[in-house]
Amino acid sequence: MIISEQKSKDELQDLLEGQQRLFIVGCAACATACKSGGEEEVFRMQEWLATLGKETTGSVIIDEACHIMRAARDLRQLRVQVEEADALLVMACGAGIQSISANTDKRVIGALNSLFLGNIRRFGQYEEKCSLCGDCILNETAGICPVTTCAKGLLNGPCGGMEEGKCEADREIDCAWHLIYERLKKQNRKGVFARTVPPKNWGKVPKPGRHKIKP
Ligand code: SF4
Ligand code: SF4
Repeated sequence: MIISEQKSKDELQDLLEGQQRLFIVGCAACATACKSGGEEEVFRMQEWLATLGKETTGSVIIDEACHIMRAARDLRQLRVQVEEADALLVMACGAGIQSISANTDKRVIGALNSLFLGNIRRFGQYEEKCSLCGDCILNETAGICPVTTCAKGLLNGPCGGMEEGKCEADREIDCAWHLIYERLKKQNRKGVFARTVPPKNWGKVPKPGRHKIKP
């Protein structure tokens, strides 16, 4: 899931300057789970806009705002309210914001910051485990990603700062490479320690990313 949080009210207020009538877009998927752009947050945003003397012409919570065609369909169905607005205020991740801007010539104002691809520990507690590097080495690292969970993203760790299994960047957290070593030891295999891993070829994930499922 894409983890996101709302921009500060100060930043939003600056972004909204000169925009009197707004159409609000939320997302029923990740932004709802993060409590950054679901139904409740859209409603609160509308109330806050009213305190600034601004009018909300309408709102919609798209099932998945990152779904470009679904966003197009939902905006089409509400085109009168969209047309009445000076700008669209989008409470979705960066992908969702761009689905909306691809479907309107009006100004689109993003209300959220997208943070990372997150695992869910429990409701409201998210952790980054994968950076989508396109060349996964989890099979050699006992299912622990050093690219993401080592503070330095080292491919051949641990670094000299590891102390009693803790990371030098934050002594409260475990060193990813210590965890990899311990888990591989339990599995009685060398895994990634059998070789020197060459520098990561980030070219394996061309930007912008595109993927088509083959029939
Ligand atoms: S190595 Fe890490 S960042 Fe790369 S795909 Fe695997 S889990 Fe994700
Ligand atoms: S102590 Fe471990 S997790 Fe921290 S930066 Fe060094 S290798 Fe990475």
